[in-house]
Amino acid sequence: MTAYKAGFVNIIGKPNAGKSTLMNALVGEKLAIATPKAQTTRHRIIGIVSGEGYQIVYSDTPGILEPRYRLHKSMMEEVNQAMNDGDILLCLADAKEKEPFSEETISDLVNNPSRKLLVVNKADLSTQEELEAFMETWKQRLAAEDVLVISALHTFNLERLTAKLIDMLPEHPAYYGEDELTDKSERFLASEIVREQIFLQYRQEVPYSTEVIVSSFKDEPDILRIEADIMVERASQKGILIGHKGEALKQVGIAARKDLEKFFSKKIYLGLHVRIKENWRDNSQFLQQLGYHAK
Ligand code: GDP
Ligand code: MG
Repeated sequence: MTAYKAGFVNIIGKPNAGKSTLMNALVGEKLAIATPKAQTTRHRIIGIVSGEGYQIVYSDTPGILEPRYRLHKSMMEEVNQAMNDGDILLCLADAKEKEPFSEETISDLVNNPSRKLLVVNKADLSTQEELEAFMETWKQRLAAEDVLVISALHTFNLERLTAKLIDMLPEHPAYYGEDELTDKSERFLASEIVREQIFLQYRQEVPYSTEVIVSSFKDEPDILRIEADIMVERASQKGILIGHKGEALKQVGIAARKDLEKFFSKKIYLGLHVRIKENWRDNSQFLQQLGYHAK
């Protein structure tokens, strides 16, 4: 009998590389919201996969970016932590990116003693020749021990990826119960599902100026009642969010409720309230309340 293997696989990479899509595909649940807009992911989220003789604890992280607000600094602290507390660093690259890792990230990675696996995503958008050249170049530049091409969106090659990761994991007992999927609360996951719709339905700075807080979460026998505050930074943004005769907010509610019903497998009541919290992205106290490690 082979020994049980378990460990932490931290997924890092630029915004839009496909980190959240990949984690959801691997876990088989939509734990992390993923949208075409960069910087959708703000918190580190773990997704747990337990199989025959192994447990992989994935961490999806915010994409690596230059901080412009205290919010971004806190996001980058979560990334820096992820660079150092995993057993395996899964370095995810979009095959179409010319510079999938910045010079700074490259030097951090080269000097990082963790085991590194380069995973080249969005294989569906490139030719075989392009992929081969990309793999060769970036495996060397990151000093990764191996490289694999996948498509997170089309779940191509994910079994090989899992097999490779199990191979690289240390022998260790399980860290979590076999039926656990994440460390995040249902309230948090619900707020993220609402936030995803805001990222999908509004343009420009509105999604980035928005935070969603679930203020009430009541699981009744026939219905799950969720009330959420949508925080914005300015009155003008509140107007945009609500829209003409409330039509825009209504669309967010309809779409989010559908996703929530799917996620919780239950009938949902969703109440949304838009509130103004000026410059919350630079307000340390407020960021702390939201669970960011802001200074
Ligand atoms: P993150 O910022 O790294 O978490 O990236 P997301 O998971 O949010 O994905 C960013 C965008 O890339 C989304 O629109 C995804 O649908 C898309 N995407 C992710 N993986 C693939 C893939 O394998 N192929 C294609 N064509 N698009 C993908
Ligand atoms: Mg993400």
